[in-house]
Amino acid sequence: MNIIWFRRDLRISDNIALSSALKHGTGTCKAIFIETPEQWKAHNTAPIQVDFLERHLNLLSEKLENLGIPFDVLSATNYPNQVDVLAQYCEQFNVKHVFANTEVEINEQLRDQTALHALKAISTQLHLFECDVIVNKGAVLNKEGEMYKVFTPFKNSWVKHIQLHGVQLAPKINQSSARKPISNSRSHQLNFDKVSSNKWPLVTEIEETVLPDFFDHKHFSYKENRDFPARKGTSGISPYLAIGALSPRAVFLNALQTNPHMLENPKSVEFTWVNELAWRDFYKHLLFHFPELCKHTNFQPKFNTLRWPNSPYAYTKWCNGETGYPIVDAAMKQLTQTGWMHNRLRMIVASFLTKHLLIDWRLGEKFFMQHLIDGDFSANNGGWQWAAGTGCDAQPYFRIFNPITQSEKFDPNGDFIRKYIKGLENVPSKHIHFPHEYLKATKQTSLYVEPIVDHKSARLTALDFYKQ
Ligand SMILES: Cc1cc2nc3c(=O)[nH]c(=O)nc-3n(C[C@H](O)[C@H](O)[C@H](O)COP(=O)(O)OP(=O)(O)OC[C@H]3O[C@@H](n4cnc5c(N)ncnc54)[C@H](O)[C@@H]3O)c2cc1C
Repeated sequence: MNIIWFRRDLRISDNIALSSALKHGTGTCKAIFIETPEQWKAHNTAPIQVDFLERHLNLLSEKLENLGIPFDVLSATNYPNQVDVLAQYCEQFNVKHVFANTEVEINEQLRDQTALHALKAISTQLHLFECDVIVNKGAVLNKEGEMYKVFTPFKNSWVKHIQLHGVQLAPKINQSSARKPISNSRSHQLNFDKVSSNKWPLVTEIEETVLPDFFDHKHFSYKENRDFPARKGTSGISPYLAIGALSPRAVFLNALQTNPHMLENPKSVEFTWVNELAWRDFYKHLLFHFPELCKHTNFQPKFNTLRWPNSPYAYTKWCNGETGYPIVDAAMKQLTQTGWMHNRLRMIVASFLTKHLLIDWRLGEKFFMQHLIDGDFSANNGGWQWAAGTGCDAQPYFRIFNPITQSEKFDPNGDFIRKYIKGLENVPSKHIHFPHEYLKATKQTSLYVEPIVDHKSARLTALDFYKQ
């Protein structure tokens, strides 16, 4: 018997491990997922993401059973235990081949190496594939055969690679006469303290409605709208990519279909969205080439000497969305109330934490993972190190976002701020970005918290701090 071992690739289409498992031999094929609650805790996986994962496991189970593939959810505590559980299962069912798609992070790679040996010892083979990026990791290198350390040349080379080799999807899986649909309406429950993700539809709605609508109406205005959190200008697919319910290659090919010439001009408006998919690949390739990043090391070692003051008071205020800077506070409330935050806001709050409050980016990275439905180690680590200035092709340390001008530029009427900060609903737009003088003049100071730092002096302190 063969098994397909699902991890963060919860989909039927464009799943190389699944199509290979079905193609391999004529024996029966089963599918498994092995939960690891302790590992999720250690990795700061957000309770909302585990709930989202559970809903998609149940959807996957239904789809697999329609294809005649039984699906079991097994329990382990952490990765070492996961390997034991897998080996026992293989022995019990006389499994000879296990098929899985790799995950790029260091603990996941180690887990797979251990599984390879443990399975070999019982004469079972583990076959690994790659399914989480558009261009395979290791395939985009500079002339010296090394990974690029700057995004633009990486992107140019990434585009050339696609032009030369194309992007292939895994073979389509069809209903086979050898497998009869199974009716087994079991509900799988993951053993974790979850937070409801019901506001996020299942991936079927994304594939059938949201993405077609995005490509029909929003793709071409993405460049114009993508930075404004009050507009629905981005695709909203990051949670689905993070658990592998959507294939990055399939969405890339969708985009290419809407404009087959976009690769010829990577500066074009049409390429802007694909450019973000290229950033996603860039960060995954980085992790592949620099696995130490998984240990939260600064990409640029010169920043290792920074001694972050890490004020617990300021950190708590930032987490709670009580800094006195409306755009920062509204963004943090979006995160804690919905499990998602707009990209422009992620950049603003990350800059504010590291540069205005001088708090180690790792604390922000952790808080994000604990709350994001789309938590993804490579994009999160990349984004935080970019904002802190410690990363690969990062924002230079002396570029410090002014939260007030960012707010004026990207939430000009204050619509986003008003949605999340109760009390500021009636503040006029021209005061909403920093309402303290207005609230004093109108004797309404009780409506909003005082700013915890002064922008100008915090900026100068940050410059001094980083110059050290
Ligand atoms: C500090 C910080 C932390 C972040 N943490 C995460 C994270 O944990 N998980 C995550 O998926 N993204 C993260 N991002 C990237 C980005 O904010 C989100 O991918 C984006 O907001 C998702 O919204 P969307 O799907 O509507 O994106 P769209 O704008 O529609 O973009 C399409 C897809 O491209 C990818 N993408 C877009 N922007 C980026 C980017 N800057 N870096 C890498 N990939 C990108 C995502 O997969 C996204 O779904 C982070 C960014 C920053 C600055």
